Amino acid sequence: MTDFTNLTLEGALAGLKAKDFTSLEITEAHIKACEDASELNAFITTDYDNARAAAKASDEKLAKGDGGLLEGAPLGVKDLFCTEGVRTTAGSKILGDFTPQYESTVTSNMKRDGMVMLGKLNLDEFAMGSANETSYFGPVINPWKVDDNLVPGGSSGGSASAVAARICLGATATDTGGSIRQPASFTGTVGIKPTYGRCSRWGVVAFASSLDQAGPITRTVKDSAIMLQSMAGYDPKDSTSINEALPDFMAACDKGVKGLKIGIPKEYTMDGMPSDIEELWQQGIKWLEEAGAEIVHVSLPHTKYALPAYYIVAPAEASSNLARYDGMRYGNRVAGEDLNDTYERTRADGFGKEVRRRIMIGTYVLSAGYYDAYYLRAQKVRARIAQDFKNAWEKCDALLAPTCPSAAFPVGRPVNDPVQMYLNDIFTVTANLAGLPAMSVPASLDKDGLPLGLQIIGRALDEETVFAAGAALEKAADFKAEPEKWWSA
Ligand code: GLN
Repeated sequence: MTDFTNLTLEGALAGLKAKDFTSLEITEAHIKACEDASELNAFITTDYDNARAAAKASDEKLAKGDGGLLEGAPLGVKDLFCTEGVRTTAGSKILGDFTPQYESTVTSNMKRDGMVMLGKLNLDEFAMGSANETSYFGPVINPWKVDDNLVPGGSSGGSASAVAARICLGATATDTGGSIRQPASFTGTVGIKPTYGRCSRWGVVAFASSLDQAGPITRTVKDSAIMLQSMAGYDPKDSTSINEALPDFMAACDKGVKGLKIGIPKEYTMDGMPSDIEELWQQGIKWLEEAGAEIVHVSLPHTKYALPAYYIVAPAEASSNLARYDGMRYGNRVAGEDLNDTYERTRADGFGKEVRRRIMIGTYVLSAGYYDAYYLRAQKVRARIAQDFKNAWEKCDALLAPTCPSAAFPVGRPVNDPVQMYLNDIFTVTANLAGLPAMSVPASLDKDGLPLGLQIIGRALDEETVFAAGAALEKAADFKAEPEKWWSA
């Protein structure tokens, strides 16, 4: 049997159109691959029967020469997107067997375009984490391995692991402070967080509403462009959705970087960062220069305040968003002696440690007497960070930086100090605070043989330049390494 799991999304869509194979064939191959890879724990819920039915429906359309942008492609969905009739957990115990009666706008766009959904992918609880170890449904394993099992990054660890393991052709993800780009970097995949407001947040379980953005994780830059083209678009149901026509992301991938000015932000480095990452960054500069870009050096002086500001704003918004999980209307309830006791027991039982920590930080920084000192201050820092980027855009069209300060690390690495974990997000949170599009492209292997990503950050609404630069990096890096399939041995 042909190994259909080696296809890219682009290749699969072309093959389906040319009738080289059917959607049912490639869907069955991916279902088998998902089953073989159960050890990776990438899925919380699989939905194979509906996937087969969707594949058959796609085949009928394709036979008539019809079908949408994603027609017949077996894909995965992060379990933070509400899916009609399919359990949605957000990686938490508190949602119980909550089964939405509605579909998120992003996944409904993808269904309109012919997605075959294989199931719901594992994630950190309520998307809070950088290692996919806070999920109630257990940690996700990175298909890349040296001796120990490694984390795939987080919070979209299931999405990244599934795409890297070739058990789905692409996956949806979300990024509040780096959750698309950091797992992409840890797994040798491509991930883009578009401009805030490009993808509707309607039907996506909220973490920090002013930072949350959906985007794809895929094998190639072009595959990300295809998926984002389907996921994005104006939605009147989300008041922060941007009412602008979508550019042609796919065409942007072929634009090249000739004449573009690429800024190198000198602050995107930190003590203890492996020399591999520093060298890769220098190599990335050379690649873009050779491809015709002009390199300029820029400064984003408030970068050092981004992480503390993020870890005030995100928990503040989370504490408010998560107030709705009270056990009254849906999800789990632990009955107590009175209403307050029921709330307390329900929330103590339903939320994991990291989520409880964030709720406590969030309610603290929003409380009377501390609001000005923390939350308001963080908002001011946020404005400065956005201004830093605006100043940079006077000198350049996009920025090149590392995605993360490290490669994937072992599962279960003791994390007594949560701040150590938060440091993973040091190069990614800035784009969320400023609402900018940013992409991670796999660019090399470190000395242990683990993938490392480079990050391109662009102007608001200018994903086209991000795709152009991302595609140029991808071409120069020629990253072909794949994890060994140890799990299906
Ligand atoms: N790791 C970051 C956090 O824990 C970002 C998570 C995300 O982007 N969803 O908040």
